[in-house]
This record gives sequence, structure tokens and C-alpha cells, in this order.
Amino acid sequence: MTRVLRINEKNIDHNKIRYAAEQIKKGKLVVFPTETVYGIGASAFDEEACKKIFEVKHRAADNPLIVHICDFRQLQSIAAVSQNLLDKIKKVWPGPVTFVLKKKVLPDIVTAELDTAAVRMPGNKIALELIRESGVPIAAPSANISTFPSATEARHAIKDFNGRVSVIIDGGRSRFGLESTVINLSRKPYTLLRPGAYDLKDLERVFGRIIVPKKINDTKKSGKVLSPGMKYRHYSPNTRLVLFSDNDLISEAVRLAKLNKLRFALLCSEETAVNFRNERVIILGSRKDLGSIAKNLFSSLRKLDTFNVDIGFIESFDEHGIGLPIMNRLIKASVGNIVGHRGDLLKIFNSG
Ligand code: AMP
Ligand code: MG
Repeated sequence: MTRVLRINEKNIDHNKIRYAAEQIKKGKLVVFPTETVYGIGASAFDEEACKKIFEVKHRAADNPLIVHICDFRQLQSIAAVSQNLLDKIKKVWPGPVTFVLKKKVLPDIVTAELDTAAVRMPGNKIALELIRESGVPIAAPSANISTFPSATEARHAIKDFNGRVSVIIDGGRSRFGLESTVINLSRKPYTLLRPGAYDLKDLERVFGRIIVPKKINDTKKSGKVLSPGMKYRHYSPNTRLVLFSDNDLISEAVRLAKLNKLRFALLCSEETAVNFRNERVIILGSRKDLGSIAKNLFSSLRKLDTFNVDIGFIESFDEHGIGLPIMNRLIKASVGNIVGHRGDLLKIFNSG
């Protein structure tokens, strides 16, 4: 049985936190909100409990988990950090950035046998209280079945994990709606492993130059991967998704879809939606506020699957600021179905 506990971040009910923390201590799984997306968590020191995370998520064993902490004492118990680096990390935590660091003590299953650990102090009071009350760091990947869009509302996690976890804490909608930025600090030069909710430019002000690998948006499974999670299909709805790197081609796609009797939905900004008043549209937010697009992105991808259509068309956004992780998620979610030229449309419609 799964208990759903509604907790208000501004007025935390500590009895509910205590109940959830008891479950963590007993080796059970707890879904909890963070400022990025919802996490499915277990005690990071409990190998058996962490194994269950991989099972219920259908997550590949070589894809390591992020360990969530509530204070710097916990950080120093699981990772080796110099005083100089610690001073810098203190400037950005709690917050939506994860650091890969030299690992000290953690079960191999958590770090997929790597000698590094990914660690984050989340900027959500419910998450911090849960970790504090549990007395252990909490290993937690995003609370979704692997390959599907992340959960940004408790109801998403309920759909994916009802009956498979002990507690789902409903803390409302995630503030950012995109996962944390992941930076490898375990060796120099520092590199970006995943663009995310923390702006890279702001991080560079604290940590100096951070290398952005060319392969950061790769959807191919071959070759050397920077971070294990990058080689897997990710964020995809069940419905076939087509991303327009040239948004001017959307109207042509709509025309061709009608000609080919394909049922489609358009996922776009409110500015684009005014040109498609008679179509099935899911509004992502405003182009003038990319934060609103980020916040609605995963729930919109999940919504697409409730529409009973053959195909989803999604517009692209400028890769500035939060636009960078938005486009990273869209490129991965559309698994290479990207339209940048007229010729790409033919490929999309010919492959049915
Ligand atoms: P998620 O579970 O969706 O929050 O994703 C966690 C991300 O962090 C995945 O892309 C992992 O590959 C990455 N990650 C976790 N631990 C490490 C590590 N030790 N080294 C490199 N990447 C890591
Ligand atoms: Mg994930």
C-alpha cells in the first residue's frame, strides 16, 4: 500500500515528515518533491533499498543515482572535497545543481561501481526535512519509470508508482520542472554532464570555466559516454514526438498531417498557438518566459499521451539560459525526430 501525504512547504507538518522518514529508515521507498522534479528515494547507505529503486523504475544498473544531502557534514562523509571546493559549493547549495565528486563511502549499487558520486543539496524544505529526519543521505533518481518524462507533480508519481512505494509526498508542482544541472568536479577541467535548472553562466562565476562537451545532446547509444545516464532513451512520451528546429515548418507539417489523415497535437508557446486556433494544442507557456515553458514541459509531454493522437509536434526554443536544458530534454524526448528542413518532413510522413 502507498500512503499519499500532502505537505505544504510553507507550513510543514512534522508528523508526516516523521512517518516518511521512518519508512526510509526501514529500507522502504519514499517519493518526495524537490525544486527540480520529484525524486524516488531510499537510504543511500542501504544497498537492498537502493536495489528496489532500480527495480521499480526499470532503471539500468549502470546508471548511478544522485545522493541528496541536507548538510555539509553529510557531504564530507560520502565524498572527498577540498576546503577550496567546499567554499565554492557552499555558494550554490541548496540549489538545482549536482556535483560529481570523488566518492568516499557509499554502496557500489548507488554509484554504479564508479569511484565518483553525484551529490546534491536540494532547495526544497520538505526534501531537506525528510533527509534530516531520516538521519541518512537519500539516493534518489527522478520519480518516473525509466525512459518516460520526469514527474513534476505528485499525481505523475502516483500514476507510475502507486502500490510500489511506501509513501508519496505531495508537495505541489515542482518550482523549476527540469532536473538539476550536473557538473563533474572530480577532475579538471570541470565539465558539464547534464544541462539543467541551474544556469551554467552563474555556475561559471563561482567555479570558473566549465567545458560543455559537443556530445551533450547526443541521442546515439554508441561511442564513449560522458555520464552513464546520457546513453539511455530519456524523457520520451509514448506518442511519437517530432521537434521542429525550424518552427516555420510547423504549418507545413500540420497541412501534411491532415493530408495523410494523421491525428496530431501541437505542443507550443501561447505566441505560436494563436496561429493554430482550430487545432489540438497543448500550451507550454510563453516564449517571453522560458521558465514557464520549463515548468510545464514534462506535464505537457505526459498530457500528450492522454490525447489519443498519432503524433505530437513540438516547437523549439532559443538555447539561452534555461532554454539550453529545455532543448536538451526536447532533443532526447524526440529521439532524433527533428525537422530542420522541408526534406525532413517527407522522412517523418513516409515512415508513418
Ligand atoms: P536522474 O537519475 O534522472 O536524476 O539522473 C542522474 C544523472 O546523474 C544521470 O545522468 C547519471 O548518469 C548522472 N550521474 C550520477 N552519478 C554519476 C557519476 N558518478 N558520474 C557521472 N554521472 C553521474
Ligand atoms: Mg531521470
